Amino acid sequence: MGLVPARRSDAERQIASGLRTGWVALATFLGLIALSAALVVAFEHAIAVAEDLSHEDERLLVSRFLARTMESEVSAQIGLINWDETIAHIDAAPHSPRDMAWLDREFGSYAWLMFKTDHAFLVRADGTPLRGWALGAPVDAAQIAPLRATIAALIATSMRPGMTLGNEAGQIRLADGARWPVDRSGMPLPRWAGGLVRVGGNPEIITTGSVVPDKVAGLFTHAPVYFVTLRPLAPLALGRMRRDLLLPDLGVTARPARTALDNAIPLAAPDGTALGWLRWTPKSPGPIKLQRAAPMLWGWMLLFAGVLIGGSVVLRRSWRIARELLASEAQARHNALHDAMSGLPNRVHYMQRLRQDLAACIGGQARGDVFVGYIDLDAFKVINDTLGHHVGDEVVRQVALRLRRKLPAGDFIARFGGDEFVVLRRAEGGRAMADQLGRQIMAVLDEPFTISGSVIDMTCSCGISWGPAQSEDPGELLRRADIALYRAKQRGRARYRCFTRDMDASVKLRLELEMELRRAIARDELTIAYQPIVSLGTGEIQGVEALLRWHHPERGAIRPDLFVPIAEKGGLMIVLGNWILRAVFGACRDWPSCDISVNLSPLQIMAGDFVATMAAIVKETGIDPWRVVLEVTEGVMLDRSDHVLATLRELNRMGFRIALDDFGKGYSSLSYLRLFQFERIKIDRAFVSNIETDADANAILCTIASLGHSLRMKVVAEGVETETQRRLVQAAGCELGQGYLFWKPMSADAMRALLDAQSDRRVLKLA
Ligand code: C2E
Ligand code: CA
Ligand code: CA
Repeated sequence: MGLVPARRSDAERQIASGLRTGWVALATFLGLIALSAALVVAFEHAIAVAEDLSHEDERLLVSRFLARTMESEVSAQIGLINWDETIAHIDAAPHSPRDMAWLDREFGSYAWLMFKTDHAFLVRADGTPLRGWALGAPVDAAQIAPLRATIAALIATSMRPGMTLGNEAGQIRLADGARWPVDRSGMPLPRWAGGLVRVGGNPEIITTGSVVPDKVAGLFTHAPVYFVTLRPLAPLALGRMRRDLLLPDLGVTARPARTALDNAIPLAAPDGTALGWLRWTPKSPGPIKLQRAAPMLWGWMLLFAGVLIGGSVVLRRSWRIARELLASEAQARHNALHDAMSGLPNRVHYMQRLRQDLAACIGGQARGDVFVGYIDLDAFKVINDTLGHHVGDEVVRQVALRLRRKLPAGDFIARFGGDEFVVLRRAEGGRAMADQLGRQIMAVLDEPFTISGSVIDMTCSCGISWGPAQSEDPGELLRRADIALYRAKQRGRARYRCFTRDMDASVKLRLELEMELRRAIARDELTIAYQPIVSLGTGEIQGVEALLRWHHPERGAIRPDLFVPIAEKGGLMIVLGNWILRAVFGACRDWPSCDISVNLSPLQIMAGDFVATMAAIVKETGIDPWRVVLEVTEGVMLDRSDHVLATLRELNRMGFRIALDDFGKGYSSLSYLRLFQFERIKIDRAFVSNIETDADANAILCTIASLGHSLRMKVVAEGVETETQRRLVQAAGCELGQGYLFWKPMSADAMRALLDAQSDRRVLKLA
């Protein structure tokens, strides 16, 4: 019993650790999933931020590039606007066609040819045009009118600090008071500014560069003339930007974006007029980064998937193992507490329950008593030994089934092994309840069983005890039920007995008797008495029945009714039976002719070697088997095995006759009579003693007698004590009688003398 809880906690520990592992694995997976999700979100966010920043950078880059383009436009013109000669020609031009022609050549056509400036103007600081060109050819300078405001704004811008070409080292003051940047050698530096304007619907780059001397600083005395050029943004400037900035689709559009991904900067004239947008598809570092990160991401994903799959396999396995452990644990616990054959709780389980219920009653948590009903099947051993174990097993299973089905659901039914079942009932009612339990248990086997086609009449005996009234100790309570059971068996089986205090003493007595019987057999203290069996017609002794006697040195005569079952239970019956056969055959061998009846215990017949034993004893004693009647009880017929019938037939063949003893007692069935050709039927004493008062008994006696005759069997009435009984049994058709009315059992010598006297009388009669 100690094993059960220990094994349980072991298994439970394993299960708990399995489940723990499972949970840890699950938590790890969930963590990994969360981590991956967070990584993906963070990655996406980082990409979005990076893209935003990079768009911003691109816009800045494009703006600067545009500004640099304008500056370089002016820088490219440095040879024209930073030249002493230019100043001289400009100063002279208004009055000299030659100088104007020089300007036309150097500024108008040269700029057109070199820089594709579709419009160019020379403008005074106050905005008045000096000369204008379109596509290299002089035009009316008044064409400048729409650009006036723009040019004024650009000139103003060029006056801001930093809008000089070349390194500014200081400033000089001009005649009109304005300050002008100069380089280290004191030469004035050109100032510039750039912007965009719309010309004929298209944005053009407009730049201004102040015309300053390059060698003779003295030429620069007053506000300079500005060279203003216009050049379409597309295709030249845009083409360069596309190439240099790696923005192949950079273009001017009316709206900032065609798609959500587009990047753009607004284009505005220096006076603030909106000119549209410079739009391009951004280089989008997001996808690029994504592309770069893809192998790593894939690796991560694969690793994650691997971990997930592996983990789920491990998780499922650990859960399956836990489940299996739980199942096997439950199975082990069930097995530890149940009997495999019947499925009923076993002794261990029963004792646990008994202890628990008894404690509850003693502790006052439950009212009433705990009743223990100890059940033993009658003649189960016979069935098992002769019909085979498979039939015995089936009987056990069917009995278990019936007990469960017929007893109230609250009863706890266990099998202790073999043919022993024990019922536990918690109820009030003391002795009355014990009786009720006994009756209910007896009723369970009321109907016969049908097993493998044959009908088996089964009875059981039962002993009942109850605690705490009779004992507070579970073991003792069970022992007392067992004692009561033994008493029920002793009383002829097929009954229940409730434990009483005096039974305890009788159990002790039984154990003592068993010991003493062994000793008595060894010391040859047993004797045989003989009782005549007389012919009811003539009154002559037809035969004798050998009856075992035990005269105990202290206890006096002990009845065979008492000690034969002790011998049977104590395993002494075969030895004792063989001793009886030898003693009887030896004693009666020389007796005058008469039948000699010997009682056989069922255990003797069922022993495998009984026929051989008999043959040996016959040989040893020299008895004539034809003189011997072997008396068997119905118990032996309970089991309809071929073995018993074959043994009886073999004995028959050897010459022995077989009598069916105690007919009408216990579980008689007339059907037994058809199974075997008995030489005689002995009608039980109890039956005969009723015959005077019970008309039914008489009628039944008549029936049995006539049935016996029709089956060619003699009918013997046992226990004939009165003359009336003698008359009645004779009238019923019994031809033989045995009883105190004729003779009581007597010693061998007395019997011998009686037989001798009878044979003498016979001889006399004949004479
Ligand atoms: P049984 O085989 O039915 O034996 C007859 C019993 O009835 C004997 O009791 C006998 O003394 C008793 N009896 C005979 N006439 C009368 C009568 O008129 N009135 C009363 N009240 N009793 C009468 P016994 O000798 O005490 O034997 C009891 C049982 O013990 C036997 O019943 C038999 O079953 C068993 N037994 C006796 N000897 C042997 C034996 O050698 N071997 C075996 N296996 N069993 C034996
Ligand atoms: Ca007998
Ligand atoms: Ca008898």
